[in-house]
Amino acid sequence: MPSATRVSFLVIGGGIGGLAAALALARAGRRVHVVEKSPEFGEIGAGLQLAPNASRALDLLGVVGEIAKVGVYPKRLVMLDAVSGDVVTALDVGAKFQARYGYPYVVMHRHDLLAILLAACRANEAITLETGKDVAEVGDRGDHALARCADGSSYAADAIIGADGLWSPTRRFIAGDARPVCAQFVAYRGTIPISAVSSHAGLDNVVMWAGPDLHLVQYPVRRAELFNQVAVFRSHRYVEGSDDWGTVEELDAAFAPTCEPVRAALTQIGRGRRWPMFDRPPIARWTHNRVALLGDAAHPMLQYLAQGACQALEDAVCLGRAVADHGSDVAAAFLAYQDARYLRTARVQLTAHFFGGVCHLADVGATLRNTLLADRADDDFSAVDWLYGHAA
Ligand SMILES: Cc1cc2nc3c(=O)[nH]c(=O)nc-3n(C[C@H](O)[C@H](O)[C@H](O)COP(=O)(O)OP(=O)(O)OC[C@H]3O[C@@H](n4cnc5c(N)ncnc54)[C@H](O)[C@@H]3O)c2cc1C
Repeated sequence: MPSATRVSFLVIGGGIGGLAAALALARAGRRVHVVEKSPEFGEIGAGLQLAPNASRALDLLGVVGEIAKVGVYPKRLVMLDAVSGDVVTALDVGAKFQARYGYPYVVMHRHDLLAILLAACRANEAITLETGKDVAEVGDRGDHALARCADGSSYAADAIIGADGLWSPTRRFIAGDARPVCAQFVAYRGTIPISAVSSHAGLDNVVMWAGPDLHLVQYPVRRAELFNQVAVFRSHRYVEGSDDWGTVEELDAAFAPTCEPVRAALTQIGRGRRWPMFDRPPIARWTHNRVALLGDAAHPMLQYLAQGACQALEDAVCLGRAVADHGSDVAAAFLAYQDARYLRTARVQLTAHFFGGVCHLADVGATLRNTLLADRADDDFSAVDWLYGHAA
């Protein structure tokens, strides 16, 4: 068997969380090696909403200036009733919001964020990057941690960060818990040129049309050259282990009762690929001696608060700080990081679940939601202070 490649910090997974973690660790003075299983670094999917808590983390990672070149700064986050077409409530994310949280709400293309993080990693001589490395098994050997790849190669590291997403092999080692839970909802998403947009409720806004067991999200990305759309609905044909559910026929049937602007938007939604929605219950233990989890590997959540990537960025900043504070005691750094993060991310995971339920109400439930939210002022930020005002 070939001997293991010796590295200092090994990050498994080169998604948003993994690359952000590499930057944070390098800024804390550590050498970092990132392994990614895909042949190229890249993101599938379309838009990403980044709330002020993420903008703050991106600033601390030194890339917020690059974000400003491609990001779009919406004026309002608006919820509309997908059946009646009425506005339910809105959050003004303009000057007053930015003054309150110190950072803006920004929306952008996923590719653009990943490209910015990747360029920053490539420019940092403390970071090395390797693709085509599918880590199959992770372990802790007391004085080092070990990662074995499917191709037979392995790495011996001072520390391993598993930023390897929803199906994380690192999590199998740390938590050994059950498989992710399928919400039985599925998303279709994609971008179209902004000039081709036929139906919207404000190109300056992030818009969510909320309906019975469905929603549609729309917002501009990439300097407002593209328009991102995500349609989500509950499939009644879900069978565990099967791919024959959440089809485009079900998509059309689910959205048939919605108002005309939503139905019109649906004709322009990306239909080439479907994304089943998963999460997991929160866990308190993210670390084992020299191995730690980060991002979706630690706290996969439903996307209803648009916080999965934001939380991964917060994780990265917190991890970098903990490593800087604890010198060569990696295990102590990882425990400090875990203790600083697990209750916050648990709150986001559980609130995302709850908020999804509120968005997907029908009949009397929907009327009650709309009635209760009708008197909310656009500049009442009290419900989101805990989320957006957090300094990682
Ligand atoms: C429809 C939808 C909309 C969303 N919208 C938002 C939003 O607006 N705002 C927001 O903040 N979040 C949003 N999210 C959530 C967000 O996309 C995720 O939380 C975020 O991408 C997680 O990043 P990550 O780096 O932890 O994991 P991932 O993005 O899953 O990256 C994991 C990486 O690890 C690699 N990998 C996996 N296994 C291995 C292995 N064995 N060996 C080596 N490499 C491996 C993968 O190839 C991948 O590159 C949304 C999610 C969905 C589904």
